[in-house]
Amino acid sequence: MSDILVKAITKGVRVYAAVTTDLVNEAIRRHDCYPIAAAALGRTMTGALLMAANLKNQEAITIDFRGDGPLGSITADATPDGFVRGYVHNPHVDLPLNAQGKLDVGGAIGQGLVTVTRFTGLGEPMRGSCEIVSGEIAEDLTNYLYVSEQTPSSVGLGVLVDKDFKAVAAGGFMLQPMPDADEEIISRLEENLQKVRPVSAMIAEGKGPRAIIKELMAGFDMEFLSSTELSFKCQCSKERLEDVLLNLGHDDMQSLVEDGHAEVCCHFCGEKYQFSREELQKLLDLADGLR
Ligand SMILES: [Zn+2]
Repeated sequence: MSDILVKAITKGVRVYAAVTTDLVNEAIRRHDCYPIAAAALGRTMTGALLMAANLKNQEAITIDFRGDGPLGSITADATPDGFVRGYVHNPHVDLPLNAQGKLDVGGAIGQGLVTVTRFTGLGEPMRGSCEIVSGEIAEDLTNYLYVSEQTPSSVGLGVLVDKDFKAVAAGGFMLQPMPDADEEIISRLEENLQKVRPVSAMIAEGKGPRAIIKELMAGFDMEFLSSTELSFKCQCSKERLEDVLLNLGHDDMQSLVEDGHAEVCCHFCGEKYQFSREELQKLLDLADGLR
């Protein structure tokens, strides 16, 4: 089953659900993530895809967790056409299981800020931040949407990691009552949410996004809208990474030229780009010309 995001609506509520197991495995492979980092990054990337689903074409979203825990920062970028990329600062963090016997994502993230940036393509990006509540990601995004964007939502995210460090099930949902939703609908939604199973358990059973929406919205008559294929994709290129070299000082750049070779790694996707002595010399001349 490939990774897919499905949108559905019913009177007064919109619901998005996504299965992201393959793209989370791609991120684990690219960044060599241990389980806690895999869960934290996988949830953040899935959350970014769900939030990006509300954007228009050409728009994009970045979610950035900056906590004081051992994982350091986590960043994910997503677009409404189903592309996501992301990285975690310390992918090799290992902590004991938490009191519930689960991966301690909250402890690994710690306290700090979650920042969401929407790139509209026109004018300045729109940025909002709020305090990290639990570091468990889904709760933090639910809180962010309510506090910073005044959008009551319920976000559920899950990544199940196996002993061999692979994700066996990853995905999530985002449910948003519309401003005109009446009290009766809201209280039925709350009842459903109290009973809902972890989304990773549904995916581990083989459920896709439509089946997740049906389980989550039991008793509601859902209308299914679009579905979008999802994948890990980075926009990096050798040209874009030249900027990293151009921003080095003259002396650092000169020593790279003397080494005769440099490798620049894209931190979003782990792709490595090689620069020869001639290419480095050209960039040094260009940078010196701009100084
Ligand atoms: Zn990249």
